[in-house]
Amino acid sequence: MKVPLLDLKPQYNSLKLELDEALLRVAESQYFILGPEVDKMEKEFCNFLGSKYAYGVSSGTDALLLALMAIDINPGDEVILPTYSFFATAGVVARLNAVPVLTDCDPVTFNIDPNDIEKRITKKTKAIIPVHLYGQSADMDPIMEIAQKHNLYVIEDAAQAISTQYKNGKSVGTIGHIGCYSFFPSKNLGCFGDGGLVTTNDDELAYKLKIMRVHGGDPKYYHKVIGGNFRIDALQAAVLSVKLPHLNSWSQKRRNNAELYSKLFIEKGLASAEGMTQFNDIEKILLPKAVYESDTLQNFHIYNQYVVRVKHRDELRAFLTDKSIGTEIYYPIPFHLQECFNYLGHNKNDFPVSEFCADTSVALPIYPELSGEQINYVVDSIEEFLS
Ligand SMILES: *Cc1c(COP(=O)(O)O)cnc(C)c1O
Repeated sequence: MKVPLLDLKPQYNSLKLELDEALLRVAESQYFILGPEVDKMEKEFCNFLGSKYAYGVSSGTDALLLALMAIDINPGDEVILPTYSFFATAGVVARLNAVPVLTDCDPVTFNIDPNDIEKRITKKTKAIIPVHLYGQSADMDPIMEIAQKHNLYVIEDAAQAISTQYKNGKSVGTIGHIGCYSFFPSKNLGCFGDGGLVTTNDDELAYKLKIMRVHGGDPKYYHKVIGGNFRIDALQAAVLSVKLPHLNSWSQKRRNNAELYSKLFIEKGLASAEGMTQFNDIEKILLPKAVYESDTLQNFHIYNQYVVRVKHRDELRAFLTDKSIGTEIYYPIPFHLQECFNYLGHNKNDFPVSEFCADTSVALPIYPELSGEQINYVVDSIEEFLS
């Protein structure tokens, strides 16, 4: 049996008629950049997310960069963010010659540890970037409290978490000042290339995001501020309009898949249901734990990735590769150990939880169309490796 980490074809096939029609419609209009398809898509995302403003942009990375430019991040400003995330979260800060100030992550959720934020605030701190890693919300209440107390902006990196909710039922990305999303094809809502979105409820920030997306001119060719080319294509917007109505049902399937994985691992005595954070004699696999689940609300964890932690992770990956099972490591090296961030002056053991995650975590296939047989095969194969 083959179990790829991700297979985009079943989703395309299930919507092929509508998607092909949308692509043709754009081709026939010959209206490629921004325009009516993008306006329509942005309204749909405002409704879906419960956000006052939403602007389509060129990628998730550019969403973050644009957000930092809109809040006026200048050289030398400090921005607090988790050391354990996709590179873009720190890369955009460094590209503006601002300083990424790193924090460790929570041992259960892998998300920024709110207890590690306040002691890193200085006079130069301007913003915090919580990342909703793997599709689970960061703990936003204490983060917003710290931000208010110290007058900081909160830019949410929701690139892996569109449709995720926090415990108050709010969509992630609409809790802080600006939300940033990615539609990279492998994300839980992917377009046909690069694409992203920024959201805000703030009128002034919305104006800056909108004009800085097109070089900062208002009117065109008259520039008070410097922006960039952060535009999204009409083609991507048309694809997203077709896909968005299906997002919640895909999230539900990911959640069902995660539940089946966890049930099987626990039944086999390989893992505990308690959300363990350290290995012991019994628990050979540490399972992801959805910490904000409730009966009345949904989508607290949408499992953009299903990440377990195991000892001998690299040997396990090789074993699974031989069995035609795709896996990935998100991410093998935290920012503080990346060569390009040597200048930040960090050492090994500075952020022990993140290092533990980087050394032991492995993502298993979780995409919505995965079958029960495939999930059973993955769990059986892991059991075989561990025995
Ligand atoms: C994917 C991702 C990004 C960047 O999105 P792109 O669309 O690939 O530029 C940023 N942050 C996180 C956490 C991501 O997973």
